[in-house]
Amino acid sequence: MIEFDLHVHSIFSKCGIHTVLELLERAKEIGIKGFAVTDHGLTIGGRLNNPFFERFRSPCQSVKILKGVECNLLDGDGNIDVPHMFMNFLDIVLLGIHPNTAKGQSKDAYTNMLVAAMRKNPCVDIISHPNDPHYPVDYKRLAQTAKSMGVALELNNSKILYARTETQSAVDLVQACKDEGCMIAVNSDTHAIHELGLDDSVRPILESLRFPNELIVNRDEKSALEFIDSRKGNKS
Ligand SMILES: [Zn+2]
Ligand SMILES: [Zn+2]
Repeated sequence: MIEFDLHVHSIFSKCGIHTVLELLERAKEIGIKGFAVTDHGLTIGGRLNNPFFERFRSPCQSVKILKGVECNLLDGDGNIDVPHMFMNFLDIVLLGIHPNTAKGQSKDAYTNMLVAAMRKNPCVDIISHPNDPHYPVDYKRLAQTAKSMGVALELNNSKILYARTETQSAVDLVQACKDEGCMIAVNSDTHAIHELGLDDSVRPILESLRFPNELIVNRDEKSALEFIDSRKGNKS
């Protein structure tokens, strides 16, 4: 179980199913300490909700709720659809390659796009699902850049759970992060409520490769909040 899940979608995503309060109820039920609501950027149907960012507070002391976004690449020049108007309210920014980016390009091309985006946008904290088979990337080069910028690469439970990528891709990603000393975020990428906090599909990979626990940014609540706090200065 992920004690602090940093990638969760609500109905503020076009593909989302549940309200934030339903997610909160589930978090209480399974006993996790918190989660980040990271709905999609506007380019792929995110409905980023003004009052949520400006006014919402978790009504439950035992479960922390962070405010975030999962952004998209807009081009190859490093531009992303991060909602600048909410920057002061954002605890966490994920960046992933999604279907608004054309498929069929080279590994180098996608790697260059993510590297450019990380360099241009210090607000990005985590690269989500870098092992999407539609958008292959050079894990070593991505891990080197991420490490140099204090960014974590995501080990995404849903991609393996729903066989949307080969397990080997996650193995290769984790190995590259280990080799380069790059941080990993273990996230569920929850859309359906039972997925919240799940890491069963990727935990064995971390264990079999003996990935250093101290490089997992959300290994527990404390480390997750320290990671968020350390990145705060980049959100302006
Ligand atoms: Zn995504
Ligand atoms: Zn997602």
